[in-house]
Amino acid sequence: MEKSKTYLGVEIKRPRTAFFELSSCEGCQLQILNKEASLLNFLDLLEIVNFREAMSNGSDDYEIAFVEGSVTRADEEERLLKIRKQATTLVALGSCACFGGVNQLKNRFHDLEWVKNEVYGGHPIETQEVRPLSDFVIVDLSIYGCPIKKEEVEEIVTNLVLGKSIDHPRYPVCMECTANGNICLFNLGEPCLGPVTRAGCDAWCPNNRMGCWGCRGPSDEANFSQLQEIMDSHNIPRQAMLDRLECFGGFSSAIREMEK
Ligand code: SF4
Ligand code: SF4
Repeated sequence: MEKSKTYLGVEIKRPRTAFFELSSCEGCQLQILNKEASLLNFLDLLEIVNFREAMSNGSDDYEIAFVEGSVTRADEEERLLKIRKQATTLVALGSCACFGGVNQLKNRFHDLEWVKNEVYGGHPIETQEVRPLSDFVIVDLSIYGCPIKKEEVEEIVTNLVLGKSIDHPRYPVCMECTANGNICLFNLGEPCLGPVTRAGCDAWCPNNRMGCWGCRGPSDEANFSQLQEIMDSHNIPRQAMLDRLECFGGFSSAIREMEK
């Protein structure tokens, strides 16, 4: 990708940036490449030196590292430590990196040998308990979502490059959903984690008539007993709520609290 950029003849400093994936579907990286209308402006901000989905050559000389995916093997653990050593800023990209994501669903079976046998049968493969990046390294910035939302990433990355503060919404998805004028999905008989999930996706799922599954993890001061009350008043089974809370891994500590 093009190295130097100038504006009125003056060179613009662009941080050397690399994208990496651990265990993931790579959907978050694909999101970065989506939305061609703003892609060139986005790339103007960064000098991309490593991005397997977008370029064939790569360099290990970078300042910002975006890491997608969760740690599920010993070699990924080693790779992550190496990336951390090189990067000035390490960004966890997407729910897998932030919480374990859908990958962490296997942790709930507790018996890894049984899981391996069920999934891979006679083709054993190395795999360990799924863990988020922050279990191994210091994460400087988290970008939530499964997948991440491109518009939000563009704003976050612009702020990061300009040295501005990055403030994730503290309020829940319900706020964005209501602001968008949607009919509450509970009133249509569908479970939704909008009341306890961190906003920032602009209520992506409820806008499309689907209940939130909590891919962005909990909002600040998420009120789970209130969520339970809402579920009860709409005759939504507790298990339906637990299935959603367990899906992306962001609510694991809340679930432990609820199970006490
Ligand atoms: S967070 Fe979702 S979209 Fe992103 S890599 Fe993980 S599974 Fe894929
Ligand atoms: S509505 Fe919920 S599940 Fe859908 S993108 Fe937003 S946080 Fe994720």
